[in-house]
Amino acid sequence: MAKKQFKAESKRLLDLMINSIYTNKEIFLRELISNASDAMDKLYYRTLTDNISGLSREDFQIFLSTDKEKNTLTISDNGIGMTKDELEQNLGTICKSGSQLFKNETGEDKNAEDIDIIGQFGVGFYSAFMVAKEVEVISRAFGEEEAYSWTSTGADGYTIREATRDTNGTTIIITLKDDTDDEKYTDYLEEYRIRTLIKKYSDYIRYPIKMTVSTSKLKEGTEDEFEEVTEDEVLNTMSPIWKKNKNEISTEEYNQFYKDNFYDFQDPSLVIHSSTEGAATYNALLFVPSKAPFNYYSKDYEKGLKLYASGVLIMDCCKDLLPDYFSFVKGLVDSSDLSLNISREMLQQDRQLGVIAKHLEKKIKSELLKFQRNNREKYEEFWKQFGMQIKYGVYADFGMNVELLSDLILFESSFEDKYTTLEEYVSRMKEDQKYIYYACGDSVDKIKKLPQAELVMDKGYELLFLTEGVDEFTMKVMRQFQDKEFRSISDDDLDLTSDEDKEAQKKKDEDNKDLFDFMKEALDGKVASVKASTRLKSYPVCLSTEGGISLEMEKVLALQPDADNRVKATKVLEINTDHKIFNTITELYKTDKEKVKTYTDLLYNQALLIEGMPIDDPIAFANSICELM
Ligand code: ADP
Repeated sequence: MAKKQFKAESKRLLDLMINSIYTNKEIFLRELISNASDAMDKLYYRTLTDNISGLSREDFQIFLSTDKEKNTLTISDNGIGMTKDELEQNLGTICKSGSQLFKNETGEDKNAEDIDIIGQFGVGFYSAFMVAKEVEVISRAFGEEEAYSWTSTGADGYTIREATRDTNGTTIIITLKDDTDDEKYTDYLEEYRIRTLIKKYSDYIRYPIKMTVSTSKLKEGTEDEFEEVTEDEVLNTMSPIWKKNKNEISTEEYNQFYKDNFYDFQDPSLVIHSSTEGAATYNALLFVPSKAPFNYYSKDYEKGLKLYASGVLIMDCCKDLLPDYFSFVKGLVDSSDLSLNISREMLQQDRQLGVIAKHLEKKIKSELLKFQRNNREKYEEFWKQFGMQIKYGVYADFGMNVELLSDLILFESSFEDKYTTLEEYVSRMKEDQKYIYYACGDSVDKIKKLPQAELVMDKGYELLFLTEGVDEFTMKVMRQFQDKEFRSISDDDLDLTSDEDKEAQKKKDEDNKDLFDFMKEALDGKVASVKASTRLKSYPVCLSTEGGISLEMEKVLALQPDADNRVKATKVLEINTDHKIFNTITELYKTDKEKVKTYTDLLYNQALLIEGMPIDDPIAFANSICELM
C-alpha cells in the first residue's frame, strides 16, 4: 500500500518533536486521553441534539491496556470515531496553530532549543511519537459500518487501510520505542506509572478511565490463601476541578490544570474560580496568562472560553462570554442553566449566556482590581502584557466602558518613575493643581527631554508618560478622572502660567507682531501661528497644538493603513524669547530678511525633530545647516 506523506510543515514539526530533547514526554498520555474524552463529548452531545436514543453518559469509557510482550500500550474509547476521510484530514496535518507558527517564522528551521512550542501549542495526537516507534489508530465513525486503520512510524508518512472494529470509537495502539540509557520507555507499561500519570494529568476527565488490574485477594472460604484476581478499575476520580471547593485545590493543581488545558507552558498570573447561583447559576474557572500569546495582538487570535452545559462540553471557544477588552482571559464556564439541546447559532442569542457574560465581566474586573491592590508587582507585569488591550477597550465603543476600565489603567509617571493608577495620581495632586498632566512620546526618556515636560515637572507637578499609540486616544475618550481633566503638555492652555506671565507674553507677541507674522508667512501654511512661549525654559522653540488633534495623534493616524492624510494637528510654533537665538533673529530681521526665513525653517524643523515628527525635506534641512556652518 502506498505511503502518504504528511504536509510539508507538518513533517517538519513532527520531525522536530520526535527527535526533540523535550523532557516532558509523559504528556502524550494526557493528550490522547483528552482526545478520547473530546470524542465522547462530541458523541454524547450529538445524541442529545439529534435525539439519538439508546446512549447515555454512563456508556462512555476509556480503556487502557498494555502488552509487555509486544511492547504496546493501547488507549481505546467509544466516542464518535473517525471516517476514512477524517483520519486523513485530522491525522495527516499537524494541528493548525503549530503549522501556522512555522509558516510565520522567517523560513529558518527551528532547532530543538525552541521546543517549548510543544508546550505552547498542544500538538495533541502527534505527541505519541515522542514515545512510539509506531502508532496505529483503528477507528470506526459513529453510524458507519466500516472501520479503518491508520499507521505511521513517524515523519516518513502514513498508510490507511480497512480494518475491523466491533463498535464506534477509536483505538490507539502505541508500540513503544526501545529503552535507551536516558529514557525507559517500557515504564509506560507499568501499572503504577500509568496510575500516576492519570492522577497527575487526567483525574478530572469526566468519563471513567479503566484499566484491568490484578490484585491478590483472599481466596473465598480460606483464611490465609491468596489468589490473583483481575478486575477493571477506574483510575480517575472524574470530578472536574471547577466543581471542587476552592480550598480543596492547591495552587499547583490550578496551574497544572491551566497548563494542561490551555496550551501554555507557564503558570498563569491570576486564577479566578467562582461559583454563582441566582440570576445565573454557573461555575467559572478563569486564568490570566502570564505572557501574551505570540499572536495576541493580531487578527489570528481568538478570544473565548470553553463552555460546558451541566458538565458537557458544548463549545470549545465561546466568544460571547468575553468582551474584547478581557480577551486575554482563558478558562471555562459550566452552567446548568443552558440547555444541552441547543444549536450553536441559537446559543449566540441565548439570554442566559448574556447574563453569565455580564456577571463574568464584573467578576474579572473586581478580581483584577484586587490583583492590582494586593500584588502590585505582578499586576504591573500583567499590565505590560495586556494593558494595551484594556486601553483599546476604553477607546472602543465610543468610550462606553470608561467607567468599568479606568480603575484598571496604569501609566508610567514622573512620580518616583513608577507606574501609577489614576486614583493614586489624583491623591497626590497639589492643592493648586487643576489638571492631570500627561505627555506623549516614543519613550519615557524622550518625553523627559521635551521642552514642555521640563516646565510641568519643574513646577512640581506629576507628569504621566504616554508611550503607546493608543494612549492619547484613551485620554481623549476618558476626558477626566474624578472630575480632574486631562491635559497634554502640548495643549495651548496648560494653566501653568501666572496672569502676570500671560500679560508679559501678550506684550511680547504685540511687540514682535511683525516678526512673528513674517515667520509664519515664511513657513507657508505649516503653522497656524508663531508666538512667544510661556512654557520654554532652556530650549529655543517648541511646537504646540490648537484644537483636538495633537502631534502624537497625527503621528499615530499617519500610521493607519487607510490614513486620511488631511488629518493634521493645527500647529503653533512657540519661541523662547529669552533665548540667545531670538536676539539673533530680531537683529537679522532688521538687516537680512532672507536669513530670517532660513532660520525660521531650521527652527521649525528642529521643533519637529524634538517631537519625533518626520521633517518634510531632510536634505534641504541638512544643506541649510552646512551653509550656516
Ligand atoms: P487537537 O485535539 O488539538 O485538535 P490532535 O492532533 O490531538 O489535535 O487531534 C486532531 C484531531 O483528530 C482532533 O481534533 C479530532 O478531530 C481527531 N481525533 C483525535 N483523537 C481522536 C479520537 N480518539 N476520536 C475521534 N477523533 C479523534
